[in-house]
Amino acid sequence: AHGIDTVELATPDVTGALRGKRLPLASFRENGLAGDVGLSSAVLAWDYAMEVLEISDYDWKNGYSDVFLRPDLGTLRTVPWKPRTALVFCDLVDGRGGPVRLSPRTVLRDAQRRCVEAGYDPFFALETEFYVLDRETLRPDSDRNPVYSLHDNVRLEPLLAEICAALEEAGVPVEACGGEYAPGQVEINLTPSDPLSAADDLLFFRYAVKQLAERHGRLATFMGKPFGDLSGSGLHVHQSLWRPGRTENVFYDAEGEGLSETARHYAAGLLRYSGEAHLIAAPTPNAYKRLAEHSFAPVNLTWGIDNRSVAIRGLARHAHGTRWESRVAAADANPYLVQAYQLSAGLAGIAERTEPDPQASTDAYTAPGAEPLPIHLADAAGRLRDSRFAQEVLGKEYVELLCAIARREDEAYRSQVSDWERGRYLSAV
Ligand code: GLU
Ligand code: MG
Ligand code: MG
Repeated sequence: AHGIDTVELATPDVTGALRGKRLPLASFRENGLAGDVGLSSAVLAWDYAMEVLEISDYDWKNGYSDVFLRPDLGTLRTVPWKPRTALVFCDLVDGRGGPVRLSPRTVLRDAQRRCVEAGYDPFFALETEFYVLDRETLRPDSDRNPVYSLHDNVRLEPLLAEICAALEEAGVPVEACGGEYAPGQVEINLTPSDPLSAADDLLFFRYAVKQLAERHGRLATFMGKPFGDLSGSGLHVHQSLWRPGRTENVFYDAEGEGLSETARHYAAGLLRYSGEAHLIAAPTPNAYKRLAEHSFAPVNLTWGIDNRSVAIRGLARHAHGTRWESRVAAADANPYLVQAYQLSAGLAGIAERTEPDPQASTDAYTAPGAEPLPIHLADAAGRLRDSRFAQEVLGKEYVELLCAIARREDEAYRSQVSDWERGRYLSAV
């Protein structure tokens, strides 16, 4: 019906980047649908092939053998900015048809299945911020601060309109789009769904934003803190659990503050387990610079009702919208791993009937006694390595790989000496 002649088979790698192959329609019919399209297992960690070798019991260290793209046909959609092109998200399977454990879709599918087995239907929405920059200067091309402004974003409007229309056409509905705190910074909210669809849609969204920005001669970035003097970009995860069939929001309780006892246990799980796996939410040395006091990004594991200085913000205005918003992740985190981990942490809180500490008063940045989030990558990697809970959720080899990648990024980062350091210390003594 859409005159499609090309199908893109897409899958996330361990960092959450979109990888895959482009197939002419005839080959999609013959090979793609049959799950016969293979690619090197190194696709999962393309820039980190050496780190893969550090994983103790990794199946493919000899020869980077093939893994296969198995289309998840429910995710098929048109790519509105490319003529006659469709895209389908794929699971990765090995030569025997078994799930590939390092595929982020495998991890999130498992977490989602455990949630359903526990009797809940997870309902998640992703909210991401990003910058649109001038390609030459790599800075915002305006110094007007557009926060919530309907008239200050003139230069970005044609691009934003195109992004929203493309998403709508592809069946990825946008709930809202607006100017964020800094010049050139935008926030887009996607509509809630199950976590796997939310993650697929976020990757498709990033794809649309980057490609359409490029066509407008601009560069779009999801980097967590691209400018020291401007606000960072977060990936906020809105989450609630419902009765099967999404008939009733179990986080809602008409009494008290609107959040049920189950919701409280869920938040306590998030608070208890988020620190040790913060590497998943902040995977680069840069992401830690986003977590600054009074930046609207959290610095510690606190919660509060409609409080933007905490890690876990509660929203409880009515039954449908009652939820938690985890604000810990940077915009360039892998949404499959972030959601898999947060969902599992919340469920553990319910199973363990954990109670959270009292909510933070208005300014959580100065909350006494709150557990601080790790402040740099090496700190976070050390904590992840020792996290039994992360090993249960992701598997041991995933944790090893993420730590090996972090080690390499941290070494690369620390080997750099910046202009700022020379400016400050060359003539200091
Ligand atoms: N930019 C902030 C962050 O990095 C969030 C701002 C907001 O409240 O939307 O998380
Ligand atoms: Mg925002
Ligand atoms: Mg938010």
